[in-house]
Amino acid sequence: NNYQHVALIIGVTGIVGNSLAEILPLSDTPGGPWKVYGVARRPQPSWNADHPVQYIQCDVADGKETSAKLSPLTDITHIFWVTWANFPTEAECCKVNGGMLQNVLDAVMPNAPNLSHICLQTGHKHYIGPFEAFGKIKPHETPFVEDVPRLDVINFYYTLEDIAMEACKKKQGLTWSSHRAAVIFGFSPYSKMNLIGSLCVYAAICKHENVPFKFPGTKAAWNCYSVASDADLIAEHQIWSAVDPNGKNEGFNCSNGDLFKWKHMWKILAEQFELEYIEFDENEPYVSLTERMKDKGPVWDEIVKINNLEATKLEEVATFWFADVIFGFECMLDSMNKSKEHGFLGFRNTKYSLISVIDKMKSHKIVP
Ligand code: NAD
Repeated sequence: NNYQHVALIIGVTGIVGNSLAEILPLSDTPGGPWKVYGVARRPQPSWNADHPVQYIQCDVADGKETSAKLSPLTDITHIFWVTWANFPTEAECCKVNGGMLQNVLDAVMPNAPNLSHICLQTGHKHYIGPFEAFGKIKPHETPFVEDVPRLDVINFYYTLEDIAMEACKKKQGLTWSSHRAAVIFGFSPYSKMNLIGSLCVYAAICKHENVPFKFPGTKAAWNCYSVASDADLIAEHQIWSAVDPNGKNEGFNCSNGDLFKWKHMWKILAEQFELEYIEFDENEPYVSLTERMKDKGPVWDEIVKINNLEATKLEEVATFWFADVIFGFECMLDSMNKSKEHGFLGFRNTKYSLISVIDKMKSHKIVP
């Protein structure tokens, strides 16, 4: 087969990587059907194996390995950067994440003459700064809009954009885009930050132990307007940038295009796990989800066993610290005007996004 478009997904088992792997090969996908290479560190898991993707196990932080495994792929036309490495300091994040992207570009650029676009997935931290700067610097005004100056702090998102822009200067016709997501609603038991996966696990544990399914966050997070980004929608947004001239050499916010409140989503979550819906009670002391779930590893093992689920460890399938970050303060809103003005009209109803992620978690037997 002679494919017009050939994707290299870095992070194919991640929360958006898995959506890209599902959507890119479809015949009605813009520019498609795509030939797809997918890179991740671990062997291919069963829930990723149905996608028609050439799976490459490779650690892109390792320059030699990356060169050995990616330089033979001479037909790549597009890179989808949906990965990241987490370190205690932002300085290390910049160094390692920048190094990973550079390793991939060094392996691909000299060998893939038709490389034409690099999609970078970043996020709202573009506007509020890295985790370590929370509370220390003044974030940008909400709703976030794309064309504001960078904050005066280091940020690995800026490093990634700089490296991509530098690469585009070196190769005629090569373009980039960055996709700045809000909290992502998606399916991946391997994601380092998966809010809905974590809440599904929390719900399953509450049900198993017959304890009330309480919202583990602040009053502000329960009541405020929130935005989220459906993983499939982010994939569609990246594919739009990959094939549409209006989606290039720009940063774009990338969220569902509606508003919701957690007090309403909590009801849907409770329904999906046949739990009683409980309103937030501000008279109760705040207890983080991490704290609530701290000794639940063996309980999760038991749930996996009695429900015949895919074998997973609690710390792998749930990222409670991330839920605590999201539920720790009022959500910051973004604007999708720039994407719409440039021609991307995609959207999701966040309620249905939530339900479809939960359905996927259940049908792949990740949660009961
Ligand atoms: P993820 O954790 O869901 O997936 C990461 C993928 O990269 C996995 O497939 C993993 O195996 C792979 N990977 C990790 N290190 C690798 C390495 N050294 N070599 C090869 N593969 C490697 O990622 P994500 O959450 O989609 O994160 C991508 C970007 O999106 C990050 O910058 C993140 O901050 C941002 N973001 C995420 C969220 C969210 O809710 N998850 C929200 C907003 C922004």
